[in-house]
Amino acid sequence: REVLTRPNLALWVTKDHKIYQKEEPYPSCGPDDCVVHVKATGICGSEIHFWKSGRIGDCCVTHDIILGHESSGQILEVGSNVQNFQIGDRVSIEPGVSCWECDMCIRGRYNLCPKVKFSGTPPSDGTMRRFVAHPARFLHKIPDTMSFATAALIEPLSVAYNAVRRAKPYLGQPILICGAGPIGLATALCARAAGASPIVITDLEQNRLDQVRAMGFDRTLKIDLSWDRLTTASKMREVMGTDCLPQIAFEATGAGSSINSACYALEDGGTLLQIGCGKPDIEIPLMSMGFREVNIVTSFRYQQSWPVVIRLVAEGVLGDVDALITHTFPVERTIDAFETCADRSNLAIKVQIVDE
Ligand code: NAD
Ligand code: ZN
Repeated sequence: REVLTRPNLALWVTKDHKIYQKEEPYPSCGPDDCVVHVKATGICGSEIHFWKSGRIGDCCVTHDIILGHESSGQILEVGSNVQNFQIGDRVSIEPGVSCWECDMCIRGRYNLCPKVKFSGTPPSDGTMRRFVAHPARFLHKIPDTMSFATAALIEPLSVAYNAVRRAKPYLGQPILICGAGPIGLATALCARAAGASPIVITDLEQNRLDQVRAMGFDRTLKIDLSWDRLTTASKMREVMGTDCLPQIAFEATGAGSSINSACYALEDGGTLLQIGCGKPDIEIPLMSMGFREVNIVTSFRYQQSWPVVIRLVAEGVLGDVDALITHTFPVERTIDAFETCADRSNLAIKVQIVDE
């Protein structure tokens, strides 16, 4: 097997804001694990954050860790207890390894497991290496027709799927997506498939919105942070084009200003579906939301999403998900991939690292 002669290059982040590549030993395969040859990995905004600021909320980089949680690959080795996988199987990796014993896990809400080991989030090492051992329970077979690059999108699409599943948009329901990053756009694809219409997408940057229009979402709104509630609502009516206001706003930036414009833009009785993660102490216009019975619903990662999202993507239900991938680099150039992703002038949506 030629691939085994290649170095197990891994991408590390340090607590003092550096990233570097270093060769790792070939992983040992536990009885419940499979060793995966990682073939495609997406870079997530959170990884740029761990690199540039060393933390996300209370989650700090306190020692060097390997990043990566959006991966797919091919199985090289199968643990002694594992029944349902064979060498050569093609898989997408679900990165949140929950304990399967606590109340939340038993109730099926395993995304809320307090003991979860999440790949590439301190203190757990991630999937940005050529070879990784991962519990078979959190590996999902992909069809032969699905590329590894597409299979590495199942993670961000799962974030979107979970949010859409919690919001339950229906056929013809007007919705708003705040933020045209990969999560906002993945949410737009899922909400469109669920029947939501019209869909308005906001951003602060016009060139990002031009990109969005090229993806087939032609109702976009460049937010001006000086708008008050009435102006926001009237701009929203204009771009919705049907004299209606959104009934669900999927907030996918985490910025306080964006949460506020989402609340202003919503129809009375609507729902703020908060996906974005920002500062811990964001102020929201809670009283004005209360007088208008605006619901707040949150969504954290995902549970039981991989099989469904794999099926939706394979059957084309979500449309052209590969349009999210704007840049691709070989493993050896992972550092360049990070630099490209971090420089907003590159208009990167999803930057991927691939290995043949
Ligand atoms: P991103 O930074 O790539 O994209 C955010 C976009 O929002 C950018 O294009 C930016 O220009 C735009 N933006 C910023 N402020 C804005 C404002 N006031 N109004 C309109 N647009 C604005 O981020 P991403 O990777 O797409 O992730 C989006 C958010 O989702 C992040 O906060 C991330 O932490 C969060 N996230 C949450 C979960 C979860 O489980 N809930 C999972 C993954 C990511
Ligand atoms: Zn648990």
